Amino acid sequence: MADTDFDVVVIGGGPGGYVAAIRAAQLGQRTAVVEKGTTLGGTCVNVGCIPSKALLQSSHLYDEAKNHLGPHGIKIGKVELDLGEMQSRKVKVVKANTDGLDFLMKKNKITRLLGAGKITAPGKVEISGKDAKSITTKTIIIATGSDSTPLPGVTIDEKQIVTSTGALDLPAVPKHLVVIGAGVIGLELGSVWRRLGAEVTVIEFLDRALPQHDGEISKQAQRILEKQGMKFMLGTKVTAAKPGKDVALTVEPAKGGAAQEIKADVVLVAIGRRPYTEGLGLKEVGVELDKRGFVVVDKHFQTKIPGIYAIGDVIGGLMLAHKAEDEGYAAAELIAGQAGHVNYDAIPGVVYTWPEVANLGKTEEQLKAEGVAYKVGKFPFTANGRARANGDTEGFVKILADAKTDRVIGCHIIGPQAGDLLAEVVIGVEFATAAEDIARSCHAHPSLSEAVKEAALGVAGLSIHI
Ligand code: FAD
Ligand code: NAD
Repeated sequence: MADTDFDVVVIGGGPGGYVAAIRAAQLGQRTAVVEKGTTLGGTCVNVGCIPSKALLQSSHLYDEAKNHLGPHGIKIGKVELDLGEMQSRKVKVVKANTDGLDFLMKKNKITRLLGAGKITAPGKVEISGKDAKSITTKTIIIATGSDSTPLPGVTIDEKQIVTSTGALDLPAVPKHLVVIGAGVIGLELGSVWRRLGAEVTVIEFLDRALPQHDGEISKQAQRILEKQGMKFMLGTKVTAAKPGKDVALTVEPAKGGAAQEIKADVVLVAIGRRPYTEGLGLKEVGVELDKRGFVVVDKHFQTKIPGIYAIGDVIGGLMLAHKAEDEGYAAAELIAGQAGHVNYDAIPGVVYTWPEVANLGKTEEQLKAEGVAYKVGKFPFTANGRARANGDTEGFVKILADAKTDRVIGCHIIGPQAGDLLAEVVIGVEFATAAEDIARSCHAHPSLSEAVKEAALGVAGLSIHI
């Protein structure tokens, strides 16, 4: 095999790209991954999912040790923060993951090319950077991901005014962190720095935190985070940010009204992410972008140009690592003539605050707007034996089922290990489960998963423990 000619070339080595490459290689395709960063793993592994979860875990343990061990009868001396050590651990966790990806590339005999890829014609990719060269290929998969959306009037310097990338790397705990955007990044990274001692104010344009989530869940999440000390300014917009010793932010009610000034030593802008297609040469080649800049694909992940596919954040929809991975897997199978498929009704989302917030399928607000008749089963963790034993009783499980068929169409959990608890419902939804199927399945006792069973029983009004 010439090292310049392939069956599949993937541009972008994030979770979408590297999974597509591994699946293509498993299917016998001569495969290369072109990545402009020095490590594989993309946003998720380098500056997203993995480092944020490392800091969430470390800051959770710090908060537990400092504030929550007393009721368990555990007395410890003064708890001190070593932020340098916490950050080094995060770096090691990321490295273990990126090293693992290098190993997987070798294991699957995938050619790793270091540099930025540009599509010069269908089947032709020009690489600039360390491995500068021209390569040819039967198929190209664009997996170039996303970057953070800028806010007009607020200039990012990644020191005082930061995106998530800067917020993962702060050298000291801010005195006052202002977070713009009460979405997933805002609440996760706001939680990290709140737990480590910062005063945290979250400014959200809409009238609730986590506005994409089920309304009851958003309300409860905000209430719990407020109890942890986070402050919220809802229905508020930031119109200017003036750097100085502190940043002076001008904020005003979203619907109009008097402006006021807020000072913060660090400002995190977390108002969403936008597709990243810079330097790819898409316009010249004729690949269509929508008006927000996402690559337009059909249901087989093909762009309008034969032989050019796209997956992951760059095609829009839920911007989640596991959605990108599943698209990469399916696209590689479709390219090899197999029947790859992604079920977009069964993609879970998890916000890794404490407690976690997990969601799947429709919210009550969406079902009402669509005029769907539905039933609700709800079960609080205060009535779950394991949650009581653990001392983690905040939150509830809510299952939404079609009123006629009993088919599960939504599940929303706020509570301990919510993300893991949701997994059984995801599989259920894949297999078109009825709420009664979950309710009649045996769940271990005492386990948090019994709250899922009880919520499923609750759909028919038959919960046992409430
Ligand atoms: P990316 O991971 O963005 O990878 C794209 C890659 O393409 C990058 O490595 C980039 O360098 C490379 N690239 C771009 N252009 C070129 C080019 N021309 N040539 C070569 N290479 C190029 N999702 C979750 O599911 N769970 C989480 O807990 C989670 N936490 C997150 C926390 C944060 C702080 C952030 C910012 C995001 C988080 N996400 C999470 C979202 C997740 O990171 C993305 O959905 C995911 O990384 C998308 O994968 P992707 O492969 O499409 O793109
Ligand atoms: P988001 O879409 O989750 O939240 C952005 C928030 O900012 C929204 O609530 C929005 O109403 C608000 N907003 C928008 N413009 C605003 C303005 N001008 N002023 C104030 N508020 C404004 O986006 P994010 O938190 O930036 O995260 C980006 C992406 O990364 C998301 O798609 C998310 O799925 C992904 N991510 C996922 C995880 C996870 O799965 N645990 C973690 C982090 C990030």
